[in-house]
Amino acid sequence: MSPAVVFDLGKVLLDFDYSIAARNIAARGKMTPEELGVFILGTSLLLDYETGLMTSKEFYGRICSATGYCGSLEEFAATFGDIFAPIGPMVELHSQLRRRGFSTYVFSNTNDLAIRFVRKNYAFFSQFDGYILSYEHRAMKPDATLYEVVERITGRQGRDLLYIDDRPENIATGAARGWQVILQECPERTIGQIREFGLLDGPG
Ligand SMILES: [Mg+2]
Repeated sequence: MSPAVVFDLGKVLLDFDYSIAARNIAARGKMTPEELGVFILGTSLLLDYETGLMTSKEFYGRICSATGYCGSLEEFAATFGDIFAPIGPMVELHSQLRRRGFSTYVFSNTNDLAIRFVRKNYAFFSQFDGYILSYEHRAMKPDATLYEVVERITGRQGRDLLYIDDRPENIATGAARGWQVILQECPERTIGQIREFGLLDGPG
């Protein structure tokens, strides 16, 4: 069986920068962008949201009451999701793998607002066979629970999965399950390793 290729999203296919959202949200509230960054990343709020323990509306409500943000939920959604930039060589790698007939999956710690934004703005995101998203399963990488979901959804285990992620702790859980893994340090190295695995050989 040829391996299914499992892609992390953030810093693998899409770069992101929360400071952009922090600036835009802070501009309509009473915290500085720095205070807002500390509030979002320094408390369990985002973690709880990405673990699926609160809805987008509840997350928005918590941001409003803590920061004085005065935009609508729609405005908040547009701002909060607008932190991404595609990593061109990786998006191209994904489409090459698709052309060669490989199954591909997205495996991400993320949230509903981010995914809604990505789905609407990046055509490549609709081209995967499946999506394993933390908030839909109440578990975050590197919790093994979410890796079991990958195995169930892909119908594969061990060396039939090739997993790319930029975080060593996430990769480690995959490797411990016998998956083939690539720690993404830069797109060029990842693409070189995919070539070494033989996935880009021959016509396709
Ligand atoms: Mg990542």
